[in-house]
Amino acid sequence: MKKRIKNFLFAGRYSWKIDTAVKYSLFHALLQYHGLHLFKKNRLRSPLLMQLQTVSGCNAECKLCPSRRQKSNKMNDEVFAAVLKSIESSGLKYIYITLQNEPTLDDTLCAKINAVKTTKPGVITEIITNGSLLNDRLMEELVNSKLDICTISIDTVDAGLFKSLRGLDLFHILAKVDKLKNHPQRKFSLFIRCTRSTINNHAIGGLKKYFRGKHIPVVVWPANDRNNDIDGQYIPHSRYYYFFKLLKIPCTIPFCIINIAWDGRLILCCNDWSANRWGSISPSVKTWIDDLAGIRGQLIAHRCDYCKNCSIYKNLNSR
Ligand code: SF4
Ligand code: SF4
Repeated sequence: MKKRIKNFLFAGRYSWKIDTAVKYSLFHALLQYHGLHLFKKNRLRSPLLMQLQTVSGCNAECKLCPSRRQKSNKMNDEVFAAVLKSIESSGLKYIYITLQNEPTLDDTLCAKINAVKTTKPGVITEIITNGSLLNDRLMEELVNSKLDICTISIDTVDAGLFKSLRGLDLFHILAKVDKLKNHPQRKFSLFIRCTRSTINNHAIGGLKKYFRGKHIPVVVWPANDRNNDIDGQYIPHSRYYYFFKLLKIPCTIPFCIINIAWDGRLILCCNDWSANRWGSISPSVKTWIDDLAGIRGQLIAHRCDYCKNCSIYKNLNSR
């Protein structure tokens, strides 16, 4: 089964196929839906996906992201050991070593990726980075690590627009992408992730064309806005949620994903920038079942006060 999932995901590693990005998005949608399905059948025993913040904060200045306002704190060894212990006994299939942050700020990132894979060999690991800190040393460490997917966030190939969106130098990052893509020892898959918003919507066609020429798949996600954290710069993306809405499916994140902040705090989701504590990392991720029980019930009933200002919630519950 694990082999089949990996083949499905990584078919584009050596020869890019037109639907690699679609397959990636579909895989994540199905994984989340599977969590909801298990919950409804009273068979939810573990999260399927983890987002792990081994360091907080970010060096970029993205307009759409409150992380730029956060200071950097690194996960200590004690918390990381507790994370590994919980991973070991879990049913996790996928771990993002990224959560509301720039993961390459952690100078022990690759050691942590390797520790996660050693603890749970079947799990798929991914990092999502802005790419600006990918120096030669880090690239060597990454290509020699057990990482499965490296995703680089690029929202446009218009250098001026990119600078105004992220405060970073586009050409510097494109050079890093080329270097990673052509690295002879690279075993992980490389993706580009684009966040669609009102600001870059017109430039996404050009971005896709550019990376199609380089045989790198581009995954486009809509920007989400919770409590107007991003000043309303998102697209009312009803088409992304059309079938979920039709079938009255709630936001599936709390049914599938466990989100762990740098200090071991369990937070609700990657869109919850208030990052309230819903629980703490424990030797068993099963506590996550109880920690989020209340909010799952509210989401299923489509009456959730905590989520009511989130753009995902609003899209799923609008008429
Ligand atoms: S979107 Fe990513 S790169 Fe931009 S500030 Fe937030 S964490 Fe950093
Ligand atoms: S509705 Fe929004 S805030 Fe609530 S769990 Fe889903 S993504 Fe998070």
